[in-house]
Amino acid sequence: MIAPPSAPLRLRLDSAALVANWRWLAAMSGRAACGAALKADGYGLGARAVSERLAKAGCRDFFVATWAEAAALAPLGEGLSLSVLHGVRAEDMEIALSGSARPVLNSPEQVARWKAAGGGMCDVMVDTGMNRLGVSGEAVGEGLLDGLRVATLLSHLACADEDVAMNAEQRERFAAIAAGVDAARLSLSNSAGICLGSDYAFDLTRPGLALYGGVPRPEAAGHIAQVAYPEAQILQRRRVEAGESVGYGASFVAGGPIEVAILNLGYADGYLRGFSGSGRAWADGHALPVLGRVSMDLVAIDVSTAPALREGDWLTIDLDLPAAAAQSGLSQYELLTGFGRRFDRVWA
Ligand SMILES: *Cc1c(COP(=O)(O)O)cnc(C)c1O
Repeated sequence: MIAPPSAPLRLRLDSAALVANWRWLAAMSGRAACGAALKADGYGLGARAVSERLAKAGCRDFFVATWAEAAALAPLGEGLSLSVLHGVRAEDMEIALSGSARPVLNSPEQVARWKAAGGGMCDVMVDTGMNRLGVSGEAVGEGLLDGLRVATLLSHLACADEDVAMNAEQRERFAAIAAGVDAARLSLSNSAGICLGSDYAFDLTRPGLALYGGVPRPEAAGHIAQVAYPEAQILQRRRVEAGESVGYGASFVAGGPIEVAILNLGYADGYLRGFSGSGRAWADGHALPVLGRVSMDLVAIDVSTAPALREGDWLTIDLDLPAAAAQSGLSQYELLTGFGRRFDRVWA
């Protein structure tokens, strides 16, 4: 038997940082319970591994987008709750009625489908101004939810990462709609909403980004720790003479002789072209700049200041999320969820 191949790139994942981030968000949520958004495979880190670590820390309420994501987490441990944010299409009904997770009903059509099937406990999303998913406050007022057994009534903030009047408006609209609904719990805040203060928390919060090291607002800076560290192996070390170029488009031209390491990492792994000529790697506390364009599977790093680095050595890619987002023009969400399937995911 030949052992399965190890990947030349890996995500080093910090369990203690993940749990510490959740604990900070839970404390910031005040008396509300703090859940966790696990959609998009735990924002690229691995939903199952994340759910196990957070459940052990005391997290009870989990959120995914689709039933395929819910199925990937089954069977969920005793006492844990899983909600499917995108609700039920006709083709989801069989699995939804199996009781493995609760749908978050988002539209009159979904509500009618759930009622017609005699579905049990459900969640409901109400729209308070984002005009994404959710039933309207008017429809709720006209009795749309009558006869449903609602575990959690949700709404979602459109601009919680900014200081705008819309945040308080949405909170007040949500409280007004909720007053007319018989729901066991109310839930409004994502990561940024938690930072707005405990009057946004209601009974249950739903952070995603900040669990995984994203900093949604200045209040979280210094409290949220990096969780995911991309690392890639050097495939080749070479010398590039003055006047020679590196990579596609020959966009980098050496001003003098330099030493270059070619890393097994590229835009197909979520290391996108926004890092061309601006990203960095780390080795022994030295920042090593990306040279020229990021390729699909490869990137060139200036290792002139690191003479000991050799083929087979590993470099850590600089991915402090707020800084990397500013540098690349991508959002922290895009950076996290872009981590591809070619990474080995290694939890410490
Ligand atoms: C993604 C999502 C969250 C988590 O949002 P973050 O900004 O990542 O904290 C919470 N609620 C809903 C409805 C979502 O779609």
